[in-house]
Amino acid sequence: MNLEQLEAALMPYEKRLREQERFRRWLGVKEVDSPTYERYITGPVEQFDRRKDAFNLLLPDNPFGEETRQRFKARTGSESRAPLPYHELDIGARIGQSLTQATWRLCRDYHPPTLPVTPPEGRLEVTDRAWMSRLVKKAALFYGAEAVRIARIDRRWVYKDIDVPYEYAVIAVVSHVREFIKSAPSHMSSAAVPDTYSRLKVITTQLADFICGLGYEAAYHESVGPDSKLNLVPIAIDAGVGEFARTGRVLSPEFGINMRIQAVMTNLPLQADRPISFGVHDFCMACESCATYCPANAVPFGPPTEQPLGIYNNPGFRKWYINAERCLTFWSANKKEWTSCGGRCISVCPWNKPQVPFHNLARWLAVHSPGAVKKALVSADQRMYKRTHKIKKG
Ligand code: SF4
Ligand code: SF4
Repeated sequence: MNLEQLEAALMPYEKRLREQERFRRWLGVKEVDSPTYERYITGPVEQFDRRKDAFNLLLPDNPFGEETRQRFKARTGSESRAPLPYHELDIGARIGQSLTQATWRLCRDYHPPTLPVTPPEGRLEVTDRAWMSRLVKKAALFYGAEAVRIARIDRRWVYKDIDVPYEYAVIAVVSHVREFIKSAPSHMSSAAVPDTYSRLKVITTQLADFICGLGYEAAYHESVGPDSKLNLVPIAIDAGVGEFARTGRVLSPEFGINMRIQAVMTNLPLQADRPISFGVHDFCMACESCATYCPANAVPFGPPTEQPLGIYNNPGFRKWYINAERCLTFWSANKKEWTSCGGRCISVCPWNKPQVPFHNLARWLAVHSPGAVKKALVSADQRMYKRTHKIKKG
């Protein structure tokens, strides 16, 4: 196969990349030199100790988590987030929980070693980083990513005392099944989350193998479980996936916060993408839907603050700090109806819409209109979709 044949075979993915670039240009997304979170850094940023991550605090042997575990037990009556036995569930919940557990398996239990790195005599020498970056992106789309961007790894976002001997993170994005996530909290929305992680595991393990085949070190990143190495939110922002939003998530022009991200770390010579700016901070200031409809009251209202809420928050920023403990406690509050919230904050976000002309027009207004129009858009969204505080009680 010659290079022309290869390029022709990959042309559908090249077209998708061009479409995504066209869409961002049309929307008025600006590429900027420095990520927009930089203006909210107020103090020294220390590398975060991953043992203080809210999920990890619940692990029985975590020395930082004693108090968190006691509160969790007092509020939920259980020591862990383990689901209920099936015989305690009604028929719909049995099916929903079984769907969820099946989607967890791959991302939680599949940890293959990467294929051997091709030795120097077979290595593909990189003479054009831009071309190689494009190739890697097309490969990621081929493996199933819905979007892909590249960041140089900023050491501030590597967890404390963790060695990451790689220069770049290739960030793959996939979106939640919208029909599932919109029922949050439910067993179906619970299933939507590990479904994305498992798809990302398939994508990133293959992408890491592909890069090793080219002759360069690469490793897929684990963000489920205690072995994660990178704080992916700022790295995805560095890569230009999106900007920081009220929920503590990355909000992208295409998917809003209705997406999950995962990384392949590598030393393949690449060209990093630039961060983007499209007014997410201003929109989140005009919109509090995630805070309004979060059943756990875990998402803050009002402007960002400099006050972390617990050891699971990394200080040094003026930002929207999420009360992760309330969020996780809520997940286990009613195991008959859900095993995790799945993200009601995600389902009610006005940016969580398909990319069709009507919603694209609303996106354009969200970016370019003054605060009063932004508020009107949020209000229209809440009325049109009949947002309600009510959740299904078991
Ligand atoms: S996942 Fe659910 S409980 Fe957690 S912040 Fe989002 S809406 Fe609130
Ligand atoms: S729901 Fe509104 S405030 Fe929350 S992340 Fe989405 S746009 Fe921002």
